[in-house]
Amino acid sequence: MADHIETPLAQQTQTPPPVQRGATPPPLPGAVSPQLWRQGNILLVPAGLALPDVCVKCASPAAGRRRTVKLLWHEQWIYLLILVAVIVYAVVATIMNKKTTLDIGYCARCQARRRTHLLIAWLIVLAGVGGVVAAIALEDGAYAAVGCVAIFAGLIWAIVATPILKPTRIDDWGNAWVKGVHQDFLSQVPEWRG
Ligand SMILES: [Zn+2]
Repeated sequence: MADHIETPLAQQTQTPPPVQRGATPPPLPGAVSPQLWRQGNILLVPAGLALPDVCVKCASPAAGRRRTVKLLWHEQWIYLLILVAVIVYAVVATIMNKKTTLDIGYCARCQARRRTHLLIAWLIVLAGVGGVVAAIALEDGAYAAVGCVAIFAGLIWAIVATPILKPTRIDDWGNAWVKGVHQDFLSQVPEWRG
């Protein structure tokens, strides 16, 4: 990968570039001097900046293992539209979604752990489907109830286990604010005081 960042986080420049308030350029200093920042436990990733060769989830060396993460985000108020109708929410969210793609370091151990979680989740869903099938075959509603609970639990497990990073904001330029980064990774990134 051509734009692969090899330098450790600590070797990045510590000098914050000037911030232009109220101007249209990206609010993150990414376009001026691409680098990572943090705000508390939130990592600020300028659009197009590949993260260092460090696992975002455990802060151990990623040993060249990369992962492309596509993120979607929209303003919180759009969730209120679910109260109007799920279809209205779905349409507005699709239009209003902001997208970005992150190139992150992700170690083999974290990848294996995530796969295990997904495997467990789908096995629970499968067991739930089995329960529903058994309910139909045996004409016993109890199996169906247990099966539906299992399907629901498995889906929730998958939804919780699948995302590696959770965006708290994505702007029009594709700059991302993400949660879920390991504390030891964050501690090597300068604090943004914008
Ligand atoms: Zn890891």
